[in-house]
Amino acid sequence: MKTALVCGAGGFIGSHMVHRLKEEGYWVRGVDLKSPEFSATEADDFIIGDLRDPYVCRQAIAQRFDEVYQFAADMGGAGFVFTGENDADIMHNSVLINLNMLDACRKRNVKRIFYSSSACVYPEQNQMAPDNPNCEEGSVYPADPDSDYGWEKLFSERLYLAFQRNYGMEVRIARYHNIFGPLGTWDGGREKAPAAICRKVAMAEDGGKIEIWGDGKQTRSFLYIDECLEGTLRLVRSDWTGPVNIGSDEMVTINQLADMAMSVSGKNLTKRHIEGPLGVRGRNSDNRLIEKKLGWKPDQPLIKGIEKTYQWIEAQVRKSVS
Ligand code: NAD
Repeated sequence: MKTALVCGAGGFIGSHMVHRLKEEGYWVRGVDLKSPEFSATEADDFIIGDLRDPYVCRQAIAQRFDEVYQFAADMGGAGFVFTGENDADIMHNSVLINLNMLDACRKRNVKRIFYSSSACVYPEQNQMAPDNPNCEEGSVYPADPDSDYGWEKLFSERLYLAFQRNYGMEVRIARYHNIFGPLGTWDGGREKAPAAICRKVAMAEDGGKIEIWGDGKQTRSFLYIDECLEGTLRLVRSDWTGPVNIGSDEMVTINQLADMAMSVSGKNLTKRHIEGPLGVRGRNSDNRLIEKKLGWKPDQPLIKGIEKTYQWIEAQVRKSVS
C-alpha cells in the first residue's frame, strides 16, 4: 500500500488532498494545528501538532512515506495578507514550518516532497495592467512580490530547491493561483474572494446590495479545488521539478466574479464599491509551461466551480443563522 504524509491536512487544500489520496487507496497521515473545520478527516492517522516545532516534524515523518505534501502555512485571503498587520507572523511561522519539515525529511531520507507556493511570488510591476499581467514562471526574477506572504513563498521555493541541489531530495513546486471550492474558509477574515463574495450574495436579501473591495475592475483567475489536486498529483508523479503555475487561465474581473455568484443565486443585487486591501491590479495563470511539461492544463469553466461553491456556502450561511 502506498503511503502519504499531508502537512496542513486540517486546512482547505490539505483536507481535500487527504480525501483524494484515500480514494486512490493510500494510507494517509495528516498533521495540522487543528482538525478540518467542515468535515471529519479521512486520514488513517492525524497528528494535532505545531510544525514550527522540530520535534513535531520528526514525529510526523517517523515512518516511511512515498509522498510528502507540504500545505501548512499561516495564510489567508487579501484581508489577512495585504493589510500588513500579519506580516511578521506570516513570514516567521511559515519559514519555520518549511525549515523544520525539510530538515526532518532529509534526516529520514524522504525522496520526494511537494511544496505549495503561490502566484503571489510574481513581481508587482508585471501585474499593474488588469488586461495584460505577466505571470510566466521565468518572470519571477528580478523579484519584487507585492506582499511579505509572496516573499516568504519565494524564499521557501529557493530553500526546497537548495535541498534538492545539495542533499539529493526530489522536490516538486507548484505556484497556485486562487484555489477555491466547498469546505474552504468562508468567513472570519481569512477567506478569499470567491468565498467572501458567495457569502455576501448568500446573506443579501433579493434587491439588496453587496460590498466589493475597490472598483472591482482588478482581474484574477480562480481554480476549482478538484483541478488543483489533479495538477498537483500529476506534477508530483512526474519527473519534472517545477516551479510551475497551477491555475486557471480564465481571467475575470472581481465584478464579473460577483455577477457569476449573483446569477447562480438567482438574486438581483447591486454592488457597492468600498475601500479595502486589494493586491495587484491584474493576475492570470500562464499555462504554457504546465501544458508543455505535463501535457495537461485545467480547463473547467469558472462558473461550474462557482455553482458548487455557492451552494455549499449558502448552506453554511443558512446553518449559521438558524
Ligand atoms: P489553509 O489555511 O486552509 O490551510 C493551511 C493549514 O496549515 C491550516 O489548516 C493551518 O492550521 C495549518 N497550519 C498553519 N500553521 C501551522 C503550524 N504551525 N503547524 C501545523 N499546521 C499549521 O490554506 P489552503 O488554502 O489550504 O492553502 C494550502 C497551501 O497552499 C498554503 O501553503 C498556501 O499558502 C498555498 N496556497 C493556497 C492558495 C489558495 O488559493 N488557497 C493559493 C496559493 C498558495
